[in-house]
Amino acid sequence: MSKENFEFKTEVKELLNLMIHSLYSHREIFLRELISNASDAIDKARYESLTNTDILENESDWKIKITPDKEAGTLTISDNGIGMDREQIISDLGTIAYSGTKDFVNLLKSKEVKDNPELIGQFGVGFYSSFMVSDHVTVITRKAAQGDKKGIKWESDADGSFTLEECEKEGKGTDVILKLKEDEKKYLEEWEIRSIVKKYSDYIEHPVVMEVEREKDSKIEEGKKIKEKEEEELNSKKAIWLKNKSDITDGEYNEFYKHISHDFSDPAKTIHYKAEGTSEFTALLYIPSKRPFDIFYKEYKIGPTLYVKRVQIMEHCEELLPVYLRFIRGVIDSSDLPLNVSREILQNNKQVEVIKNSVVKKALDTLGEMKKGEYDKYLEFYKEFGRVLKEGVHFDFTRRETIGELLLFQSTKAENDQYRSLEQYVDDMKEGQEEIFYITGASREEVINSPYLETFRDKDYEVLILTDEIDDIVMGTFEYKGKKLKSIIKGDIDLDKSKSEEKKESEKKYKKLIEVIKENLIDDVKEVRLSGRLKDSACCLVAAEGAMDPHLEKMLQSMGQEVPASSKILEINPDHPVIESMQDIYDKDKKNPLIGEYSRLLYDQALLLEGSKLKDPGQFTKSLLKLMAAGAKV
Ligand code: ADP
Repeated sequence: MSKENFEFKTEVKELLNLMIHSLYSHREIFLRELISNASDAIDKARYESLTNTDILENESDWKIKITPDKEAGTLTISDNGIGMDREQIISDLGTIAYSGTKDFVNLLKSKEVKDNPELIGQFGVGFYSSFMVSDHVTVITRKAAQGDKKGIKWESDADGSFTLEECEKEGKGTDVILKLKEDEKKYLEEWEIRSIVKKYSDYIEHPVVMEVEREKDSKIEEGKKIKEKEEEELNSKKAIWLKNKSDITDGEYNEFYKHISHDFSDPAKTIHYKAEGTSEFTALLYIPSKRPFDIFYKEYKIGPTLYVKRVQIMEHCEELLPVYLRFIRGVIDSSDLPLNVSREILQNNKQVEVIKNSVVKKALDTLGEMKKGEYDKYLEFYKEFGRVLKEGVHFDFTRRETIGELLLFQSTKAENDQYRSLEQYVDDMKEGQEEIFYITGASREEVINSPYLETFRDKDYEVLILTDEIDDIVMGTFEYKGKKLKSIIKGDIDLDKSKSEEKKESEKKYKKLIEVIKENLIDDVKEVRLSGRLKDSACCLVAAEGAMDPHLEKMLQSMGQEVPASSKILEINPDHPVIESMQDIYDKDKKNPLIGEYSRLLYDQALLLEGSKLKDPGQFTKSLLKLMAAGAKV
């Protein structure tokens, strides 16, 4: 077969472009990424060899070899792992997991990334980081299960395309050959390679070896020294999670985190413990400090890497972690699970349930301690992951109160950028207050001057400001310490019970007027009623209790989704002079067309106040101008 040419997908082109021109400061991590891929490939081969005797290798034979060639200017990383076939190499080294997601391409091109090259680490660049140090990469690979020597050769200059051709390959596994850029030749030096491996890949379970030249005493000629090449292991291989906590430095913990997460930043917290008793396992888990850009994508992979007695079983074991803790990365090594454990077994396994419960408890406890003892750090965490954690209130019924304790909110009683907890809210509740009030909106700025808050501000009630899309879904059904959470833009609000007599009077007074307004707006609102939440504004629109949250509704509409026509309620303020004027007009002449015009104006204003579009802006302006002209005459 001759050479075939393939175009990279757009996002890979962008990523490669970014790699080639990368100003990223720790380019040596390319070696960590390639060693990590090689190690994964060996794990896979070893796992497959449990059931496929064709792969049977001597346990001691697994290895990763680094070969610098100064003459050729190449650095080769070889493994005897699982290898790739033609289809795999096309999809694995030609696309990226997030392929097709437009956001990803945009993110790559964004100024943010250009200005801050460290961000590229978030993309799980892996193999492509080779192009930070080399201008031509060759991959020669042969599947582990393949008996004959047929292999495949992949080559690219990162210029937008790659080539494939069949070839012979002596051993099983993969060679990645980097032709180093002129100014990156330092990676051919023995001491450089040695120190990078020690720094980033010491805990890799398989030996990372290199041929080194050593001076030895000649056996033939006494007193004479000769040079001899021999393979030397560069890493200590000890699985970091099995070491004693006291023997591991923060630096080592952090490096291991970067190895498994592809994150370039240090984690916010490390959780390392051994469980004994009903289930025996070791967990090394991390709470990251930066939110991965794809955490809200469908493709985002959840769960720690599962090992059984040091053998890697699967990379993302989603059975071990609930979705709302999906930001947690790490490793679980179990002593009880069978080695040939499958997805089906995992799904109904008691041991797995025990491990998951333990991990969730540990994670939530850790977050709780962080919130208490290191509030600033916790706040940073919360800004990154609060939106994810919050899902737990909805999905983890048994722990919703515990998760509720971890939530933070903006509030009318907190400065901009300060947060309040539910505990603080409840402690400061007013006498007789039964509910925790909240308002939803796109941002604090958007809602802070909202008419919905008027009475609450006037009567000094705290209102939490919820700005995440999922807030209403999550919070709408939540009860914290027996106090329901209540949206102030839905349903009836009655803060001042002592005024109920007065309200009854007003209702009597405006009964007819309200009916007329309703007739005029029959196509637009479900109901017109007097408001208990307004002070200065004349009117506002509210949703019925149990209806979809207006903020969510707007968001869905903006995304082009069909939203069922909600029938809103128009609330009017009985103490507002405009309403009194309307009543006067009505008393004098029940048929006066001004009532109709004013009703519409009220409704249009209410629409504007809630941030919605007017149905007929032309008519609105006309009515308004007419009023202004009349006012000017007076
Ligand atoms: P990641 O390792 O995060 O999946 P990479 O871009 O580094 O991303 O690699 C993409 C895929 O290519 C890997 O998931 C793996 O399937 C395959 N791959 C890379 N290197 C090797 C290797 N040495 N042996 C076998 N497969 C490999």
